Amino acid sequence: MTTRRRTTLLRTATLGLFAVLSMALAHASEAPGEGPVTLTGTTMGTTYMVRIAQMPPRIGVAGVHSRVERLLASIDRQMSTYRPDSEISRFNASRSTDWVDVSRDTALVVAAALRTSRLSGGAFDMTVAPLVDLWGFGATPPSERYPAAQAIAAARGRVGYSHLEVRRKTPALRKQRSDIHVDLSAIAKGFGVDKVAQYLNDRGIPAYLVEIGGEMRAHGRKKHGQPWTVAIESPSPEPLRAAAVVRLDDAAIATSGDYRNYFDRAGTRYSHVIDPRTGTPIKHALVSVAVVDRSAMRADALATALLVLGPENGLQLAVEQQIAALFIVRRENGFAELRTAELERIEMK
Ligand code: FAD
Repeated sequence: MTTRRRTTLLRTATLGLFAVLSMALAHASEAPGEGPVTLTGTTMGTTYMVRIAQMPPRIGVAGVHSRVERLLASIDRQMSTYRPDSEISRFNASRSTDWVDVSRDTALVVAAALRTSRLSGGAFDMTVAPLVDLWGFGATPPSERYPAAQAIAAARGRVGYSHLEVRRKTPALRKQRSDIHVDLSAIAKGFGVDKVAQYLNDRGIPAYLVEIGGEMRAHGRKKHGQPWTVAIESPSPEPLRAAAVVRLDDAAIATSGDYRNYFDRAGTRYSHVIDPRTGTPIKHALVSVAVVDRSAMRADALATALLVLGPENGLQLAVEQQIAALFIVRRENGFAELRTAELERIEMK
């Protein structure tokens, strides 16, 4: 019997992280110039939240909210594989091996994804879509059967970031194989967070926290000069137990885990994160990785890359690259936490 732990319409928003602030979120609150304002909504199959510590006078809450909505809608039109009319879906559907013009934003995200693929030796691979679909975690409805070895081998043959090129100056993408498909699910939410943060900076909003589907970025200080702090959720059965609490000073945090989106079959857990090198869902004791970085996009991609690499190779890469990362590993009697020195430096004890 197969148990599936997925939501089809809206995925849970706090995928492993929760801001240590008032947990009761209103839709939009407080007048300009007064206390904190919280804007919420849905995007990318999940929810978003923007918390503004103090709205400067003369800036209207409704105007900011509607601009945030438009920014996120635009990213959805560019990068969603859940809508056939998006830029990336049209690129995926095309069999052409010529350059295909895309937006600056899409080219930027694809370039960042390629950098993460090279850094992780292919553990992160945005062309993993055929395998994601095969295992039933994509936009197409899943099959209830365990994929046959032949089907896995065939899908693996259509995966490979080295078959994809990106051009930034006149933004365009090119595939060297006509059947390459791009899936930006492991990086585009982080990009969305950065994009909203950039807009808030441009509007002169001095202190805020932006969150999309659990990926967050904070800037400035809360009222009374307190830093933004974020708790990294422990996967233990106790509700909302924090494995660590970190301070976000002009920084972003993202998590990737195997314990929110998976299915169980015959006592084995199959995660939505796929190891492109084997063609199967990750199979190791690493349950989740949280990464703190200046860029939410980079943190988002690195969290998935390190999760795929596993507890030993992932931690080794994080140490070598001086990445602030927390690894939660499943042990016989519960969970163990491994952290890099960079993470320890921002941890609240
Ligand atoms: P992460 O760990 O950040 O990413 C895991 C995802 O990345 C997997 O689900 C898979 O798609 C992909 N992946 C798996 N293995 C690898 C690998 N080795 N390398 C790189 N990538 C890998 N969901 C909906 O249900 N409905 C929607 O309408 C919808 N719209 C979306 C629109 C956009 C623009 C984006 C970016 C996503 C959308 N999603 C939608 C997807 C949903 O938000 C995803 O579940 C989410 O992006 C995955 O994030 P995560 O934090 O759960 O996992």
